[in-house]
Amino acid sequence: MAHPSPPAWEIDGATRLLGVIGDPIGHSLSPAMHNLALRHLGLNYRYLPFHVRPEHLIAAVQGFAAQGARGFNATVPHKEGLIPLMADLSPEAQRAGAVNTVVIDDEGRLHGHNTDGYGFLSDLAAHGVGPGELEGKTALAVGAGGACRAVAAALLQAGVTRLILANRTLARAERLAEALAPHFPDALLEVAPLEADHLPLEECRLLVNATTLGLHGEALHEVDPARLPPHAVVHDIVYGPPTPLWLAARQRGLVAIDGLGMLIHQGAAAFKLWTGLEMPVPLVESHLRQLTAQRMKM
Ligand code: NAP
Repeated sequence: MAHPSPPAWEIDGATRLLGVIGDPIGHSLSPAMHNLALRHLGLNYRYLPFHVRPEHLIAAVQGFAAQGARGFNATVPHKEGLIPLMADLSPEAQRAGAVNTVVIDDEGRLHGHNTDGYGFLSDLAAHGVGPGELEGKTALAVGAGGACRAVAAALLQAGVTRLILANRTLARAERLAEALAPHFPDALLEVAPLEADHLPLEECRLLVNATTLGLHGEALHEVDPARLPPHAVVHDIVYGPPTPLWLAARQRGLVAIDGLGMLIHQGAAAFKLWTGLEMPVPLVESHLRQLTAQRMKM
């Protein structure tokens, strides 16, 4: 499946395209991550960012297939919009109702996957929070967008028995709970408005921020980590500079996890789907941590 590259990783007539679509896309670390791994393994692919507005999604997707690309990732706001454009969906994409990775086969058919949930759980496990730590527990996920869908489905799949979905737009959290319920009939799914009085933080083993808040230093005022129990874990899936939530959780002495590890693990799963090979995760992580630190100084 993997295409060996010419010497010195030059582009030639056999080079195949990979990429990521989003709106915006300039902040994405995925090109740096995938190109480093491809180059390290000498694979003849290149991974490019594409700024695709929602009204151009169908044309962009058809373009990838028509040009023989191997596949692409999707980020905000395309994960849900890709669903009807796929020939088929993996069980993870079905449960999440969102696609973050597309594999294009030799006939140009599009196969929709979702590696966000895998990336999230792998990163939790890397921080000592394996499935045994989640079974039977209560978790609170803030958000209801494409990323929260995958995180919520992964948590329920990992054995969380009570999941509270809190979102600014309550109706969106309700729709997410309704979509998840048939897949997890034994789970207790609750929805809450994003208001401090409605969030039972004292009862949560795990708190996840799956909103876009934090990327530019915005605080999640309604969620105070001081109210969490002392053994709680906080995972802020936003990546970039440390977020106020992550900093507050760390200050409180909780296990505080940022979004970079999830990004790398979801990327590693996509990389394997396209190339059949393992991404060199430690190499990629040290590169991306350096890159993030450099960007913070700019
Ligand atoms: P999305 O579909 O656009 O959803 C955005 C979410 O943020 C919604 O729940 C939205 O609430 C909420 N939100 C936005 N502005 C808000 C505000 N001012 N106050 C309260 N809530 C607000 O985005 P997504 O795809 O789910 O991505 C969410 C975040 O996760 C992004 O920062 C993305 O970069 C990150 N992410 C990280 C990884 C990783 O690997 N680490 C993977 C995927 C995504 P409403 O419904 O009320 O609008």
